[in-house]
Amino acid sequence: MTGSEPSPILAGLSCRCPRCGQGRLFRGYLKVAPRCERCDLDLAFADSGDGPAIFIIFIVGFLVVALAAITSSLVSLHPLVHLAIWLPVTLALCLALLPPFKGVMIALQYRHGAEEGRPL
Ligand SMILES: [Zn+2]
Repeated sequence: MTGSEPSPILAGLSCRCPRCGQGRLFRGYLKVAPRCERCDLDLAFADSGDGPAIFIIFIVGFLVVALAAITSSLVSLHPLVHLAIWLPVTLALCLALLPPFKGVMIALQYRHGAEEGRPL
């Protein structure tokens, strides 16, 4: 780690390498690239597990339920209309937020040297 490393939050949100902040972190939608194309960082350590999904479930769940409740208090809609509105919104938000959240988790994992525990 050097002082010139990018912020793990900014590098993660932009889905960039946690060491140089330039190379792409993902090859495809959520598949982590084997190495950084710029600084050659081996990204084999990257394993965010279920962390990003848990954060997104809480954030998107709270947001969509709040928006649905506000909408419901303002206008009377048939439940199927609510479903037609909020189901695609939920899906789009979850799919849009997964890569940046996974990027942040991997960048924080790199910054703090987090790795799988080993028996003593
Ligand atoms: Zn890099």
